[in-house]
Amino acid sequence: METSEQTNKKKTKVGIPRALHFYRYFPFWKKLLEELNVEIVLSPPTNKKIVEEGVTHGFGELCIPVKIYYGHVLRLLRDHPDLYYIFVPRYVAEVKEAYFCPKFLSLPDVIKILPEVPKILNFEVNVKEFPIATSAIELGKELGRTQNQALNAYREAQKYFDEYHQFLRDGAPVNHALRLVERNRPFTLPKKKHTGDIKFLLLGHAYNIFDTFINLDFQKKLRDQGVEVLTIENLPESLFKEPVIINPKGGGLRNYWKHEEEILAAIRYFLKEGRNEIDGVVFLISFACGPDSLISELIKHDMKVVRLPFLEIIMDEHSGEAGLLTRVESFVEMVRRKKKKLALDSKKTTAVKTL
Ligand code: SF4
Repeated sequence: METSEQTNKKKTKVGIPRALHFYRYFPFWKKLLEELNVEIVLSPPTNKKIVEEGVTHGFGELCIPVKIYYGHVLRLLRDHPDLYYIFVPRYVAEVKEAYFCPKFLSLPDVIKILPEVPKILNFEVNVKEFPIATSAIELGKELGRTQNQALNAYREAQKYFDEYHQFLRDGAPVNHALRLVERNRPFTLPKKKHTGDIKFLLLGHAYNIFDTFINLDFQKKLRDQGVEVLTIENLPESLFKEPVIINPKGGGLRNYWKHEEEILAAIRYFLKEGRNEIDGVVFLISFACGPDSLISELIKHDMKVVRLPFLEIIMDEHSGEAGLLTRVESFVEMVRRKKKKLALDSKKTTAVKTL
């Protein structure tokens, strides 16, 4: 029989759905919660059943990533009825100038109303109102920790998260890095670096481009075609420092959404200095995503101006393998031909000049 001392030593079990901001913030959350003496339980990678369940509970015109989040929550509840909390952070604003999509603002409120949900462990990020350290203190308080313990945990988590970002900028693919975090392994680059004769910038929310089930393993499809894939996580920090001004000649407009701002900042670089570093751009968008469909139009316009091939893929729960593969193959083929032709034309020009 368990003694009361053993019971006290048991850590609080907290479930984290492997969806939405998991693909962006998991290293930070993991370190923070573990430093606060919590046991983390993750839902498994997305699968058919999770999607089906999420779609059944997701109402109306919700985007697929949020429906999938529902599916992960329900899966966690079924597999771990002993969870004390489910971690559902509220991301409002991480920088003073931009907001997260409204779906993130209301996430804890909508999850709370799902059947048989345990207590919600909130962590609110809203730097327009208070520093993130304040949220860490609140989180610590909920978990029975002192202010000092919470602040130490926050500092450790931030340090680890900085190391993680540096690792990505050194070229680590996000899924590889997340695997290392999950298994408590040191940050080491994969032994084999994938290269190809053409290089694409792959754009999209992290949950769209790194959840391999919902995007039908899109990156692998590209790699199988001999494409080297770059994502914004691998780009230098300096590219994102300056705010993006949309239509500067027409008075200028600031973008309102945090992640879309990052996408536009990356595009700004590849329109000018980085124009010759990539051969094409692919944008993975969720069906019914307002912010993405808006910036997709801006990107399309810019791509035409600099003549960079651009492919937009809209994903939902009905996306089919065969149709996607055909689109990828024909896009890759078109880009490869274009690249060969450009190389040939430039050779001819050089030959004429030297005559
Ligand atoms: S940004 Fe788009 S895809 Fe992401 S949660 Fe909001 S609506 Fe859904």
